[in-house]
Amino acid sequence: KPRVLSGIQPTADSFHLGNYLGALRQWVALQDSHDAFYMVVDMHAITVEHDPKALRRRTRVSAAQLLALGIDPERSTLFVQSHVPEHAQLNWVMECLTGFGEASRMTQFKDKSAKQAVDRVTVGLFTYPVLQAADILLYRAHSVPVGEDQRQHLELTRDLAQRFNTRFGRTLVVPEAHIVKHTAKVYDLQDPTSKMSKSASSPAGIVDLLDDPKVSAKKIRSAVTDTGREVVYDPENKAGVSNLLVIYSALADRPVADLEREYEGRGYGDLKKDLAEVLTGFVTPVQARVREYLNDPAELDKVLARGAERAREVAARTLRAVYDRVGFLPPM
Ligand code: ATP
Ligand code: MG
Repeated sequence: KPRVLSGIQPTADSFHLGNYLGALRQWVALQDSHDAFYMVVDMHAITVEHDPKALRRRTRVSAAQLLALGIDPERSTLFVQSHVPEHAQLNWVMECLTGFGEASRMTQFKDKSAKQAVDRVTVGLFTYPVLQAADILLYRAHSVPVGEDQRQHLELTRDLAQRFNTRFGRTLVVPEAHIVKHTAKVYDLQDPTSKMSKSASSPAGIVDLLDDPKVSAKKIRSAVTDTGREVVYDPENKAGVSNLLVIYSALADRPVADLEREYEGRGYGDLKKDLAEVLTGFVTPVQARVREYLNDPAELDKVLARGAERAREVAARTLRAVYDRVGFLPPM
């Protein structure tokens, strides 16, 4: 079976609709056809200022959400990044292959660092795409399901893998980004030209999976739309409505054209009301399962420990090969 790998940051108390539609839905689907490795990337979460207690809680909540959304730990290897020290070890080798100018071109860094004072921006935030490359290359992943915002980092990962192979001999698998076009970028409800984001969206702009569905319904009702009335998909001129249509279409598993027909001659209000209902139907059972997993943290930790053990076997093998190729003297 080809291998798939992806990760998500525990940077909030809940995942949002963008995370689910852009990435996690694909994670679940790819478990059947792939040997899957999925992780909570806590090492990435400390690239910005954070609270240690919150990080620990969010790491568990993240794992519980992944299980509740359908990641099956019997079929997939589910683990926490910091449990596998090989990530930090391969990261160093990858940093020494990355050009400074190359790293400086990453637009996510430019966006995220622009929002903070210079002295608050960490070197870790600057080099995190390189750690991400190490995350992927350690598992020799063929496919990496992510949202559109990660496309550039995947390109960097491919470049680094190819560079390593050219310089030291074929060792690493060059991975492909798996980006589902339709839902690759879910937008902020209040600012439908920027992506919904755990760390950057305002509370009103973000639909959290673990929010009370009544709160989410209200956010959807207040979503920014244009002054027209026609429910049509037109991302250039009707960004807000188009975003709602994409979310609706994905959650209800119905083509956008179908929805356009259904809401012809009706206003945005009806669309928003029905979308809120579809969302409630989706999140309610997910939230119940999350609560169950969190009620038994010892069992949850056990699942993660088993995952880390499996992950380490694969990671250690790749790291040994890499260390050997770059000329590190093996310890006796
Ligand atoms: P942060 O703001 O802390 O970076 P985030 O919301 O971007 O958080 P990540 O943990 O960085 O979430 O990303 C997890 C996955 O979700 C990635 O594959 C990313 O591409 C995807 N993703 C994040 N936001 C969106 C979005 N608005 N639309 C589609 N996919 C998204
Ligand atoms: Mg992100």
